[in-house]
Amino acid sequence: MTTSTYTPIDTDFEVVIGLEVHSQLLTKSKMFCSCSTNYANAGPNTHVCPVCMGMPGVLPVINQEAVKYTIMTALALHCSIPEYSKFDRKSYHYPDLMKGYQISQYDIPLSSDGYLTVDVNGQQKRFGITRVHLEEDTARSHHHNGYSLIDVNRAGTPLMEIVSEPDMRTPEEARLYMQKLREILIYIGVSSGRMEEGSLRCDANVSVRPRGQEELGTKTEIKNMNSFRSVERALEFEARRQIEVIRNGGVIRQETRGWVENKGITVLQRVKEHADDYRYFPEPDLPPLILSRKQVDDIQASLPELPDARRLRYQETYALSEQEANVMTEDKALGDYFEQVIAVSDVKDTKARAKAASNWILSEVVRLLRASGTPVQESPLSPNATANLLDLLDKERITGKQAKDVLDEAYASGEMPEVIVEKKGIKPPIGDQATLERIIDEVIAKNEKIVKDYRGGKVNAIQALIGQVMKQTRGQAKIDIVRPLMQKKLEEPQA
Ligand SMILES: [Zn+2]
Repeated sequence: MTTSTYTPIDTDFEVVIGLEVHSQLLTKSKMFCSCSTNYANAGPNTHVCPVCMGMPGVLPVINQEAVKYTIMTALALHCSIPEYSKFDRKSYHYPDLMKGYQISQYDIPLSSDGYLTVDVNGQQKRFGITRVHLEEDTARSHHHNGYSLIDVNRAGTPLMEIVSEPDMRTPEEARLYMQKLREILIYIGVSSGRMEEGSLRCDANVSVRPRGQEELGTKTEIKNMNSFRSVERALEFEARRQIEVIRNGGVIRQETRGWVENKGITVLQRVKEHADDYRYFPEPDLPPLILSRKQVDDIQASLPELPDARRLRYQETYALSEQEANVMTEDKALGDYFEQVIAVSDVKDTKARAKAASNWILSEVVRLLRASGTPVQESPLSPNATANLLDLLDKERITGKQAKDVLDEAYASGEMPEVIVEKKGIKPPIGDQATLERIIDEVIAKNEKIVKDYRGGKVNAIQALIGQVMKQTRGQAKIDIVRPLMQKKLEEPQA
């Protein structure tokens, strides 16, 4: 773990942050109708029906998969699930709200009172989760010069809201919370986690107060942050702005502010003079949500392994270091790949194989994937191919250096490493002591000057001699044997 170099924003003021994260759910159909949610590349208003268009007289039907995904999330966040929950109408008027109200959850959400544990520079911090509830997304306005158009494809997409307690004290904590939350949503398969596409969005409430003061300061709400970096930057800017206002004798107003990425500032969007009056009332067209203990238990039992558990398992079962386990589990698909490589190996020493697999994946495979911008799920190098390469290394059929070249070629062509080794006529490495000794003696005899340099104190001269051995053996000599052998020969007392 790296140690914190984070300095507080201000020594006199404490920053208080709470996040509201919205995530679209990966269901096939929308929240209350059977329209497909797969509208990403579709023309405007092609994934719509009378229900999501908000026509009068139509009846919504609850998407049970969305309810399940929300409960999965809530359970992963240690929330409690009530047996009775309901949907409510939240009325407000906005061009992208087709019905003039949004179906959401007000006083009895699907879950409440959970927490998320986050590693903040090596320290485990627990942030409270107020609630996880379910609602529907709105349509989208597209603004043009002098007029606006509306695309209803997004309207009615299941939208889960995860509200945190105001437990974060630095913008960095807010970013780490958000990253951890996203990781969990992807692990349990309920969200794509794509912030850049708006399927995962974040609003932040931020206030400042003199250190030591119990009472919370007036908060502002920041919107429009579409990356982890912008969450952190926006909060940092806003906290500093508030502190400056207070220092100059001003008062913080309760307002909504938008983050302007290219300017690095938050700007006023609207002042909340009164608390919003959404006139919530129970949705009359939907039945209450009744969940039996058994249903919840079944969902709990079906929850996939969560990232923290996987990190521990990788350290315990595969003897990976904490650092390795962290990197390997950050991207679920990378961890899946790693486990597939181990699974297809028939090596007895699982820990040794896991260590080798981890080394090769985190260095070479990841390098190739990054260079070509390919997600690991689409790697042209199958887990079988990587396992095959490790087998060749295990059997000492190729050297580590050759393995890198073979891997590059396997990545480019999709061929199995053993096929490439045969095709290229790569001979097995020379590890035989007597053979190597003979070659080393020759090299020493032929390179008097370099040998003299080495013995005169130029230790690096050994590289040139090793290079000669490699050249003579066309790279076949096993370097881990050549090096100590060469050293021994050079340091033998001279006759
Ligand atoms: Zn529809």
